[in-house]
Amino acid sequence: MIILVLNSGSSSIKYKLFDIGRDREKLLDKGSVERIGEKIPGHREALSIILNKINAKINAVGHRVVHGGDAFKEAALINNDVIEAIKRFSELAPLHNPPALLTINESRALLSGVPHVAVFDTAFYQTMPEQAYLYAIPNRLYEKHRIRKYGFHGTSHRYVADQTARILKRPLEELRIITCHLGNGCSITAVKNSRAIDTSMGFTPLEGLVMGTRSGDIDPAVIPYIMQKENMDVDRAVELLNKESGLLGLSEVSNDMREIIKQIPHNKKAKRALDIFSYRIKKYIGAYTGVMAGVDAVVFTGGIGENHPDLMKEICKGVVADKTRVLIVPTDEELMISRDTYSVVA
Ligand code: ADP
Repeated sequence: MIILVLNSGSSSIKYKLFDIGRDREKLLDKGSVERIGEKIPGHREALSIILNKINAKINAVGHRVVHGGDAFKEAALINNDVIEAIKRFSELAPLHNPPALLTINESRALLSGVPHVAVFDTAFYQTMPEQAYLYAIPNRLYEKHRIRKYGFHGTSHRYVADQTARILKRPLEELRIITCHLGNGCSITAVKNSRAIDTSMGFTPLEGLVMGTRSGDIDPAVIPYIMQKENMDVDRAVELLNKESGLLGLSEVSNDMREIIKQIPHNKKAKRALDIFSYRIKKYIGAYTGVMAGVDAVVFTGGIGENHPDLMKEICKGVVADKTRVLIVPTDEELMISRDTYSVVA
């Protein structure tokens, strides 16, 4: 089955084309169209460029959708109800769901004869127990506004957990795995018996680990205090925590791990930023080892996780037991989306 996977942002569409079968997975083509809204007028034109480049008959399309709220536990064949739900959750992912919707609508028009499948970043976390996803705030806020932990990067965590089981030649259902996705955004997930039981990102991707420019966990009382002291409004304070914090805010050098590491020999703030980044991961590994009563494998992925094995070794030191396997597994969210699309369609 020839499957086109589309990953749409506000100014770009990335794609991969796979041939997927019961015992074959082959990447046929990949690419992206950037600068939508500048060089390329809109998502429709971007999609036409991609479809013109592809020299194969497409049998199904898989779409990455960031937020499926609490409506989707797994990938879904797209119909009008699914579209309505994605629209509904746009409020919770204003930067991500609207461009995905644009692309879904355009590609359903351009490729009207084939099934379209939505694969949600949040779906993997819909099996988390209440004790992990509810915040200790008045219950009515959950009931009225659906304020809870949703978790993100789920497709990546699911993919590397899957790969880990394949590499260890053991069923995923029997394993306790901690998956660490360390890219620009960073998140960590506890996977027990093939299900996510907890994850570090929350209602939004701001919670949890120290990231390139995001603070991760912080005392919420700091926010009104900053607003008062620095004379900021809410939007500005949220921007500060999302775009000026994390590795960038601490190091005053860069959000990019390569730059931080380069600066360490002669810059104390860069060293400290790395230490805080690593310490937070270590704490979460300890916590997730605790809630799973042990861990069989710790897996690192994402730009940082895949390219800094010495740092990953250092993070594991003292918190990961000797018998626990530590792996680096390159992520491939598009391959996971194509597998899901195949299972929904086939
Ligand atoms: P995103 O989360 O935007 O997909 P990545 O997964 O590429 O981004 O992660 C970006 C981070 O990974 C940066 O901190 C960068 O320094 C680091 N990184 C990416 N590629 C490499 C590489 N080849 N070598 C070292 N570090 C890398």
